[in-house]
Amino acid sequence: MEITADFDGGAIEVLRGADPLAVELGLRGDTGAHVRQWFCVRFDDVAGQPLAVSLMNAGEATYAEAFEGYRVCASYDGERWFRVPTRFDGAVLRFLHTPAAPSVTYAYFAPYSWQRHRALVDAASAAPGVALQVLGHSVLGRPMHLLVVDSPGPEPDRAWRGAPLRVWLIARQHPGETMGQWLAQGLLARLLDPGDPVALAARRRAVFRVVPNMNPDGGVLGNQRTNAVGADLNRAWLAPTAGESPEVLCVRSAMEASGVDVFVDVHGDERNPWCFLAGCEGNPGYSERQRLLENLFEQTLLATSRDFQDEYGYPRDEPGGGDLRTAGNWVGERFGCLSFTLEMPFKDNANDPDPRAGWSPARSMELGASLVEAILACLDWLGAAAPGG
Ligand SMILES: [Zn+2]
Repeated sequence: MEITADFDGGAIEVLRGADPLAVELGLRGDTGAHVRQWFCVRFDDVAGQPLAVSLMNAGEATYAEAFEGYRVCASYDGERWFRVPTRFDGAVLRFLHTPAAPSVTYAYFAPYSWQRHRALVDAASAAPGVALQVLGHSVLGRPMHLLVVDSPGPEPDRAWRGAPLRVWLIARQHPGETMGQWLAQGLLARLLDPGDPVALAARRRAVFRVVPNMNPDGGVLGNQRTNAVGADLNRAWLAPTAGESPEVLCVRSAMEASGVDVFVDVHGDERNPWCFLAGCEGNPGYSERQRLLENLFEQTLLATSRDFQDEYGYPRDEPGGGDLRTAGNWVGERFGCLSFTLEMPFKDNANDPDPRAGWSPARSMELGASLVEAILACLDWLGAAAPGG
């Protein structure tokens, strides 16, 4: 038996790795930060071998209580993920599993590697009407990829009175929240489907700009929340710097250049077993127009997504209490636009649980596809309200 985390996105400390029935592992901290939650570890040469694995310091994790009701994700091929029986006693997270293949990977959630990211970017940017831009570089020099999805047809095809609206979606500021990039993949797949009339209508009204991986270093390093130097990028929007948060700096500059009408920042929530949105009602400049748009977006998503709900979520911010260091609040305040933080669960959707897979890449992609209707509803509203409309 061999236990390793020496790969893209891998993170674990092996404390005792000789006896398959008494494997003891430790959650490794994010590089440069006091955050401890993500894990991804591969076991080799274990076909048919019962494994009893303990994460000894789970009780010291950043969101330790989030391990209540959580089940570990597993895969033999990195493509199909399932959950394994897991127990948490407040201190140690234990799981039992007998692999049906020689190698198995266990992870906090289905990983999304840099290699997979490159494949996504390559495939999307080969489609008609899509351009790839490098906005800048991460701390460790990885490219910050932006996919610009324009109208697929020639310019007269654009059923729009004036300049196209500007939709932005970013994912994985917190790199361990890989469901965000799975969602971005689902959104892109739908937008680029030439046979989808909703997607075509949306692309005729707006240019979509998608940053599917806001934190490439953190993802490769196997971090939960931070980049290579320990910065939480979703607290860096008010004053990003070239040294600590170049990832935010370059994306913010591109937003200043393009303008923003609709913005979605996609995350995963460790504790809450639901999909939900957080708006920018706490911003000093929060307007009635933004409230109407938020309501339209939410009502449309309730109608089109089987997973989205608006009963459970974060408490609403008090007026003036919004944290402008976060992307959702900063973009909403700067551009006066519709601006959301979208959360998905690490565990499952408690309203419609999947006993086999829990919350999964497939469900994340499906929710991403459902966003197109909600965005289109808002584009239509914005278009009708536009001067000359
Ligand atoms: Zn997050």
